[in-house]
Amino acid sequence: MNTSEHPKPKKCIFCGSVIDTELGIGRRDECPTCGKDLHSCLQCIFYDEAYANSCREPQAEPVYEKDRSNFCDYFKFGRDEAEAEELKFRQKAQLEALFKKVGPKT
Ligand SMILES: [Zn+2]
Repeated sequence: MNTSEHPKPKKCIFCGSVIDTELGIGRRDECPTCGKDLHSCLQCIFYDEAYANSCREPQAEPVYEKDRSNFCDYFKFGRDEAEAEELKFRQKAQLEALFKKVGPKT
């Protein structure tokens, strides 16, 4: 058994608890630690606020409640904190670039 090939544990985006995804994430599944829905946009690898409907999957139906369980066929659990942090960082950079374009506050 080679543990180095074991996939990275998937975590709840809200509290960081490791979620067992071996049996898949159902629409009614909640985080055992914080009780948030696991089958939600915010927990999905396709979630990206830079995209229309905050989703990288253009075919997906728009979902308005990003933190609630959805019926999306493209749902894939697995955003982790590192990715979420990276996303925030990227958005901040984009925002700063935008402000620079608008003009410096002199
Ligand atoms: Zn949680």
